[in-house]
Parts: sequence; structure tokens; C-alpha cells
Amino acid sequence: MSDCIFCKIAGGEVPAEIVYQDDQIVGFKDIRPVAPVHILLIPRKHIPDLTAITPEDAELIGRLHLAAVKVAADQGLAERGFRLVNNCKAEGGQVVYHLHFHLLGGRQMRTLG
Ligand code: 5GP
Ligand code: ZN
Repeated sequence: MSDCIFCKIAGGEVPAEIVYQDDQIVGFKDIRPVAPVHILLIPRKHIPDLTAITPEDAELIGRLHLAAVKVAADQGLAERGFRLVNNCKAEGGQVVYHLHFHLLGGRQMRTLG
């Protein structure tokens, strides 16, 4: 989707601090971090939000989680722990409609909500 900022980042058209990439997944630093580690993990495939995944995406979503764990380890968070968050649609607080997971860490996380 050409007007999607995260598709443009995945395609290299818009710069980002990329920390992970493979044939299906890209990880890059959030432009407005809310924690010492704040990385966004996205599929290269344009999926608007979590409700749009299909059974065909099951392996992709698994790979996205494997990538998140690898990036967390690379960032020194394997033992300390971290938070992996998806904001889904309006009441979930989603702003960018290209599926992404926030990897947050480097400080104590508090309650959700
Ligand atoms: P959402 O609220 O949709 O779950 O989160 C979107 C996230 O994308 C926000 O944390 C925001 O700071 C980040 N973001 C939005 N535009 C850009 C951008 O152009 N580059 C990067 N690196 N992050 C972005
Ligand atoms: Zn997109």
C-alpha cells in the first residue's frame, strides 16, 4: 500500500533506524520512544490491524514473535524482561494501520490501561 508509512519504511523509501530484518519481518526504533528500548516489529506484508490476520498468516505471526524475542535478546532484555504490545483499532489506541508490535523495555513496566 503506497501511502502506508510502515510499508515505506519496510521498502526503504522512508528512513528508520532498522535493528532487524529478514524476508518477512522488519524491526525499527520508534520515532517517539516511551521506554529506553522501544522497537516496532512489522510484517513486510501490509496487514491493517490484528483483526485482519487469517490462518494463512499463522506462520508469519509466529515468526514475528520469534523476531521480537531475538531483538529483545540483542537489546539485553532476555533476562530482565520486556513488554510486547499490539494496539488494535480505535479503542486499542492504534494510530498507524499497518500491523505492528511494540517491544518495550529497559525500565519497569507498570499496569496496563
Ligand atoms: P500505534 O499507536 O499505532 O500502536 O503506534 C504507532 C507508533 O508508530 C507510535 O509509537 C509512533 O511513535 C510510531 N511512528 C509513527 N510514525 C513513525 C515513523 O515515521 N517512524 C517511526 N520510526 N515510528 C513512527
Ligand atoms: Zn503498510
